[in-house]
Amino acid sequence: MAVFDYVIVGAGSAGCVLANRLSADPSTRVLLIEAGGRDRHPNISIPAAFANQFHTRLDWDYCTEPEPHVDGRSLYIPRGKTLGGSSSMNAMLYVRGRPLDYDLWERQGAAGWGWDDVLPYFLRSEDNARGESEFHRTGGELRVEDQRSPRPLDRRLLDASATLGIPVIADYNGPEQDGAAMFQITQRNGRRWSAADAFLRPARSRPNLELMTRATVTGLELEGGRAVGVRHRRRGGGEEIARAEREVILAAGAIGSPQILLLSGIGPAEHLREVGVPVSHELPGVGANLQDHPFVTMLWEVSEGPTLHNADKPKHLAEWLLRRSGPLTSTVAEVAAFVRTRPGLPAADIEFHMGAVYFEDHGSEEFDGHAMTIGPVLISPEARGRLWLRSADPLTKPRILTNSLSSPNDVDSLVAGMELAREIAAQPALREVVARELKPGPAATDRGALEADLRRRLMLIYHPAGTCRMSDGGEDAVVDSELRVHGIDGLRVVDASVFPVIPGGNTNAPTIMVAERASDLIRGRSVLAPAAPPKAA
Ligand SMILES: Cc1cc2nc3c(=O)[nH]c(=O)nc-3n(C[C@H](O)[C@H](O)[C@H](O)COP(=O)(O)OP(=O)(O)OC[C@H]3O[C@@H](n4cnc5c(N)ncnc54)[C@H](O)[C@@H]3O)c2cc1C
Repeated sequence: MAVFDYVIVGAGSAGCVLANRLSADPSTRVLLIEAGGRDRHPNISIPAAFANQFHTRLDWDYCTEPEPHVDGRSLYIPRGKTLGGSSSMNAMLYVRGRPLDYDLWERQGAAGWGWDDVLPYFLRSEDNARGESEFHRTGGELRVEDQRSPRPLDRRLLDASATLGIPVIADYNGPEQDGAAMFQITQRNGRRWSAADAFLRPARSRPNLELMTRATVTGLELEGGRAVGVRHRRRGGGEEIARAEREVILAAGAIGSPQILLLSGIGPAEHLREVGVPVSHELPGVGANLQDHPFVTMLWEVSEGPTLHNADKPKHLAEWLLRRSGPLTSTVAEVAAFVRTRPGLPAADIEFHMGAVYFEDHGSEEFDGHAMTIGPVLISPEARGRLWLRSADPLTKPRILTNSLSSPNDVDSLVAGMELAREIAAQPALREVVARELKPGPAATDRGALEADLRRRLMLIYHPAGTCRMSDGGEDAVVDSELRVHGIDGLRVVDASVFPVIPGGNTNAPTIMVAERASDLIRGRSVLAPAAPPKAA
């Protein structure tokens, strides 16, 4: 039996950070276990190819149960299954969320996770090509760059937003999120810069860090209320145990981490009995509080190229291989706009993902021509879902339900986002090049038709979170504010599942921040000092 100080489950965004930080002390033995294999596939490194990973062996390929509020459809949830986890599959958009998101975490029982506390941890990882400022840093592991080869239509999207009254801003991760801007992205010289590139590779040669790939963790070893290791299976092999003398850390993501807890008998007792898992410790919140960002895409045919149509032509591949430039460096969504769809909201409820591309049904539907997408993403959803085990078999995918569009406010925000998207497209800068609306199409003239279209085509934008909620108290709390599982010693969860509330932005940077802070908590280091309050003007 292999023995370590720390066993980390999952080499994704959080797991790679933890492996780096915990193995920095040469006297600490660290094991990082990952179910997927190496991250060598070109669909990982070539930015614009990320959706080619969907439904392949690089994808856990989850989907929800038929969802009652989206015409009974089941919604697709891709998750990266390789080194880097979902950071090897994601669209690379670098967005932190707003100060009020983290202040809400603190108010909901996550002591020490307010904005001033977490900002230093965003900064610790960061290596921003724009240089140092009050909100940004250079010299960290996570490279953040501006886009190298944006499409000309992006300028029109920004101009159209401006004429509609959405101000063009330089930095949505700066003092004010509201506005339209070019996305900053986690790339280095036109290539994806995943958490594995940033944090794992620099630590790989450390003798005290062992990496095990193609090993699926099937449950925890528990002894007298303490996690002492994990059970795992390698391909073609039987069950093995890796022992942790200090801690087991689950970083298997918002689907994987609660699934491992449930398989180990930690969760709602009644549900565990139903599926035949002996109860080790009743914790009703495991799998509850599931949140994701729902979105829909509005699509137009445009008369002006170049767009991402035919971006996979050999000449573009040659350009990417030789110069790391051209359309294959695209993150597909190139322009952001954060807007409030009604008065009285404390922050933006919609984040538009915009680009010179036809993006429908997760990129699987083709359109032979130049097109533009304006996709309203609901970043403050009220809907809450849940996941459960389907059976006691650790290799069976869990049952997932998001309850997307169960809240009237969520529907209102998204329909207002669709209407706003049309207004953006109708501004002079875009009107000149728009040939026709493709989806929802001209027949959808009133609110009812837009809502029907929303329920028919809604997708999830790949940000599941919240299923092991962090809080020092309360019915649904799974981990405390030091990320220790309530009632079990030697066990933490560190990944997107601990978010009490999903932040108003994309979730990779917040997950990396959580892992940075967790690494200090685990090592017993005093946490970084809160950020100084902004200087008065
Ligand atoms: C297609 C897509 C696009 C996205 N776009 C963006 C974006 O542009 N910007 C952004 O900020 N966010 C984006 N995200 C979301 C972001 O990438 C995730 O929120 C973030 O990576 C989550 O990190 P994590 O550590 O919680 O989980 P993951 O990174 O998913 O890591 C979990 C790891 O655990 C492994 N694992 C799971 N179960 C087991 C097990 N039983 N045994 C062993 N290993 C296991 C997995 O294989 C994986 O490597 C996107 C995600 C996807 C999938």
